[in-house]
Amino acid sequence: MKIGIDIGHNCPPDTGCKGIKCEDDLNLNVGNKVIEKLKTLGHQVVPCQPTNADTVKASLTKRCATANAANVDIFVSIHFNCFNGQANGTEVYAMSEVGKKIAKSVLDEIIKLGFNNRGIKDGSKLFVLKNTIMPAILIEGCFVDSQKDMKLYNEEAMANAIVQGLINNYSC
Ligand SMILES: [Zn+2]
Repeated sequence: MKIGIDIGHNCPPDTGCKGIKCEDDLNLNVGNKVIEKLKTLGHQVVPCQPTNADTVKASLTKRCATANAANVDIFVSIHFNCFNGQANGTEVYAMSEVGKKIAKSVLDEIIKLGFNNRGIKDGSKLFVLKNTIMPAILIEGCFVDSQKDMKLYNEEAMANAIVQGLINNYSC
């Protein structure tokens, strides 16, 4: 399988939210682990995060262009959430039916770690899901401004859950 891994933000002015921890750091650390683990399992990985961009829109456009040009089988954008310090848990966005199946597979694995299940969300307004041509998901791993989530959070476990979810979906 050829998988486009999009490490969210990390491309100023495209930067993530800040809570107890910084979203950018978590996206990068979990994303890099996911990339390594998928490669170890024999999958082809296309990193979609650009090295620079003048605007947020340009950053998002480059991510989609990379995935589309490489014609990846699945596009996976990795993010973490922020809201009001109280909201917590995991949600995964998708648009297409295939995308929703992959999203559910990943969500099911992440909530096994103890995070609240916020469900599969409609991603039809998200730029990177609208502008990629293959099944695509955007993962909001958990909330970086939630005490509960940050106590539960473990980089290695989160990366393993994402990889397992992606693999389960394609194993038969
Ligand atoms: Zn984000």
